[in-house]
Amino acid sequence: MSISFQDLGLNNKILKAISELGFEKPTQVQETIIPRLLTENGDIVCLAQTGTGKTAAFGLPVLQTLDTSKNYPQALILSPTRELCRQITDDLKRYAKYYEGINIVPVYGGASIDAQVRLLKKGAHIIVATPGRMVDLLNRGAANIDSISNLVLDEADEMLNMGFKDELDAILGRSPEERRTLLFSATLPLEVEGIAKHYMKRHEIVTVGVRNSGSNNVKHYYFVVHAKDRYNALKRIADYNPDIYGIVFCRTRQETQEVADWLVKDGYNADALHGDLSQGQRDQVMSRFKHKTLSILVATDVAARGIDVNDLTHVINYNLPDEAEIYTHRSGRTGRADKNGVSVAIINSKEQHKIKKIEKLIGKPFAKAKIPTGSEVCSKQLLHLIQSIEKVQVKNEISEYIDLINDKWKDISKEEIIQKVLSIEFNRFLDYYRHAPDLNIREEEGARRSNDQQREQLPSRSEKGYSWIKINLGMKHNITPRHLIRMASTIGVGKNAVGKIDMRRDITFISISNRAAGFFANEINNTDYRGLKVKTEILRNK
Ligand code: ADP
Ligand code: MG
Repeated sequence: MSISFQDLGLNNKILKAISELGFEKPTQVQETIIPRLLTENGDIVCLAQTGTGKTAAFGLPVLQTLDTSKNYPQALILSPTRELCRQITDDLKRYAKYYEGINIVPVYGGASIDAQVRLLKKGAHIIVATPGRMVDLLNRGAANIDSISNLVLDEADEMLNMGFKDELDAILGRSPEERRTLLFSATLPLEVEGIAKHYMKRHEIVTVGVRNSGSNNVKHYYFVVHAKDRYNALKRIADYNPDIYGIVFCRTRQETQEVADWLVKDGYNADALHGDLSQGQRDQVMSRFKHKTLSILVATDVAARGIDVNDLTHVINYNLPDEAEIYTHRSGRTGRADKNGVSVAIINSKEQHKIKKIEKLIGKPFAKAKIPTGSEVCSKQLLHLIQSIEKVQVKNEISEYIDLINDKWKDISKEEIIQKVLSIEFNRFLDYYRHAPDLNIREEEGARRSNDQQREQLPSRSEKGYSWIKINLGMKHNITPRHLIRMASTIGVGKNAVGKIDMRRDITFISISNRAAGFFANEINNTDYRGLKVKTEILRNK
């Protein structure tokens, strides 16, 4: 028998609001925490994964125990980032839809403090704050937490990771003794335990789900490709999932920007989110992603921290993180709120041990998946197109033209029209995938190639009219074939003059049309690539 929100003791105003939000039944944290908060007084440490519905778990009881006739702050919610502050505030406001005259005020750094002071002066029942800004406001005497009955530390581990220990100490030290403290965290490191021991009264630790394990709704896959094919593999994954709404995680800001730029150039709704962008730019990207104007967000781990989007279809590890822990944070961004999600890793054959390590940590196996072939992508896209044609709503205005159209097309068969209409959308896929190679590495090939790499063997044969040039840049320099093509084009050697590119770990063989080969080798030689002196050598074909 499953428990309903009614069973938890929530009042009708709240029940109505959350039912309108589409909350049908409580998540496990909500089921565990809400009745306790409504009927007991004790402090609670709650360990639960992200995406388990913690905001409502503390938010609904905080709301229900509030007295809106009293015009002073009764709850303070601390959260690590300004994005999360806003998110929590928005959520609370939705839950409080039928509470008249309630004031929920978010305060965070990076925005005018004066405006926030004014808002607080007007009255706040609930303050949602980042620790740094809260301390500033307390020091100015602009916020009053003397009478709060609930203090919530949301994502406590993250706040400590971000170095807010002193601020938390200050705030906890200044809030009233008889308050209740609720601490939410995904993990229980010593620092969090320290906070709990020091500032919380006899408290209960509630663990929901398995600690440190990924959500059960997430399926984990990995694809093995040559490092040089990483980007193409990403494209295939995106093309094979026409409704993709996902985050692509990269390791560096530079890689993030690059991958996003390539995707945009290739016609995807993508953009980058990383620390080199201004706060304004980041806000803009986030808002476009939240509103699904962007379907692919390319991000670094740090920048993605504040993202709270729940219906992601995919988390893509363009590169695996160095630490397995980080993988769990990444993959935890999908499969939230009982939805299904997919977390994929694009790896090269030498990275398989990383997968093993992550499997151990999350206690779940990865499935090895195959990068779809060009024709698989094409049929998937075609079916998708047909489905959306079936579903499309026909507007009245169209019917006014039907006679005209019938007349114009009277000599064309229905089949022909269907083919033509489909081709409008579909030709670009067919063009792109017509000669698309299989990107998967066969196991034996993987082994053979890595031997080759060590021996720096010359690539087998070069195309007629082209010469091989050896360059001392390879995958370990984070260079990709596209870089080389761009490099060529900046010195005036166009795409057509560039043939095969065979990238190894330390070096790359690139074939350049005979007419341009000498020029290319000369121009590139002794130039600087990210602090490395580039060396080229023209190889005579044997
Ligand atoms: P957490 O803080 O644990 O990471 P959130 O509180 O942000 O998770 O909730 C994640 C998402 O799930 C939010 O979009 C929220 O609206 C949604 N959600 C929460 N509880 C429920 C529920 N009982 N039914 C459906 N959706 C829910
Ligand atoms: Mg949360």
